[in-house]
Amino acid sequence: MDVLTLDSIHKSYGPIQALKGVSLSVPRGTVFGILGPNGSGKTTLLSIILDVLSADKGQYTWFDQPGSKYQRRQIGSLLETPNFYHYLSAVNNLKITQSISGRGSLAEIEDVLRKVNLYERKNSKFSTFSLGMKQRLAIAAALLGNPPVLVLDEPTNGLDPVGIAEIRSLIKQLSENGTTIILASHLLDEVEKVCTHVAILKTGTLITQGTVDEVLADEDVLELGVEDQ
Ligand code: ATP
Repeated sequence: MDVLTLDSIHKSYGPIQALKGVSLSVPRGTVFGILGPNGSGKTTLLSIILDVLSADKGQYTWFDQPGSKYQRRQIGSLLETPNFYHYLSAVNNLKITQSISGRGSLAEIEDVLRKVNLYERKNSKFSTFSLGMKQRLAIAAALLGNPPVLVLDEPTNGLDPVGIAEIRSLIKQLSENGTTIILASHLLDEVEKVCTHVAILKTGTLITQGTVDEVLADEDVLELGVEDQ
């Protein structure tokens, strides 16, 4: 069963055609990478499926239901880093996030901190966290409500190698525990390391999609220059 399908999604910003009829399907249980260089339309695509932007044309479904704000509440996402309070602990920041968003419950907070391997630091102030830990706390917030799907935009951007490795291993761990993950990245290496499936976007057009093994075995695809240098 597909978690998400897109059928010929178009989106322009004035004269700029950011998405030119993108269709794709994300099977349940996958780590699905949307790979493309900067400006290829990844964030626009994620914003549409999360109902932050509306498409000009085309449809999408979550779990075979037309995309809507209601559906959106069942999807965990991290498009931008949330505004956490520097002087509050991890646990108190999540309490605030939970009460503002209404997602999940206070009782789940310790659970999500365990899932992102921050339980031991639950009472530490946010200001003492490394960038990687801050990102893991943001993922913990996205996991409130135990969503079946997690959507992440460039989750390792700006992190040091340790932070990157931690986020990648967290993604694998969440996937092994049954969460379907959709992640945008401009890094071929990241997609190879963490994704099972990939769709390649170039200037708003989907070039190909399939398992990582199939797609990345195709040298023609790699020659299209899918990665920023
Ligand atoms: P990045 O990784 O740099 O965010 P991306 O692959 O996520 O790139 P988008 O951010 O979706 O790509 O941008 C797709 C195209 O749409 C680009 O040409 C970008 O300049 C343009 N664009 C994005 N947002 C806007 C906006 N609010 N107004 C005008 N043009 C925009």
